[in-house]
Amino acid sequence: MRRGLWLAMVLVFILATTPAIASPDQPTESADTGTTSSSVIMTSKTTTTTTTATSTTTTSTATSTTTATSTTTSKSKTTTATPAADRGVATGKFVWPVPGWTHIVQGYGDYHPAIDIYENAMLGTPILAVDGGTVIIAKSSGYNNGAGTYIQIDHGNGYRSHYCHCSEILFSTGDQVAKGEVIAYVGQSGNTSGPGLHLEMWKNDVHINPLSVLPY
Ligand SMILES: [Zn+2]
Repeated sequence: MRRGLWLAMVLVFILATTPAIASPDQPTESADTGTTSSSVIMTSKTTTTTTTATSTTTTSTATSTTTATSTTTSKSKTTTATPAADRGVATGKFVWPVPGWTHIVQGYGDYHPAIDIYENAMLGTPILAVDGGTVIIAKSSGYNNGAGTYIQIDHGNGYRSHYCHCSEILFSTGDQVAKGEVIAYVGQSGNTSGPGLHLEMWKNDVHINPLSVLPY
């Protein structure tokens, strides 16, 4: 009976001990695996988040940089094209007011003391001051007896130039402009058959044919 009891006690011990040893191992392994995989996920999530945040920041920085650059570029272009020192200064030599556009649909004559440079694709393109001077009339809206939106420059040397049917003018009466400066955009305001520039010029208050002085 004693040996039998001892064996029984040994068996009970083994049965009791074996699961006790095995059970901590399994949870530990699975816990490790879980910890490892969750730490990997955490790491990759953190990395992904960081990368996304960084690239978003970079993108928005790049975008605002680009915007700032293009703003600066257009500003500096304007500044370069129109040095303040040249504003109001007439050279006596003229530039063509709508570079690249030379299609004249109506020339200078008794009933039309102007040239009409018309083309549908001109709508919205810049109109340049043919020379430096001072704005003496600026109508930013209205029919204005058919002229529509228009601007007139006194070049101070006997010449005046007059630009009609604009979509928009960029200066007001009294402003000084430089030779070649963008003063307006081609439109179809007032009495006109389409988009274009009706240009008049005077020499000592007498109409002249713009083509007699402009490079054409
Ligand atoms: Zn005309």
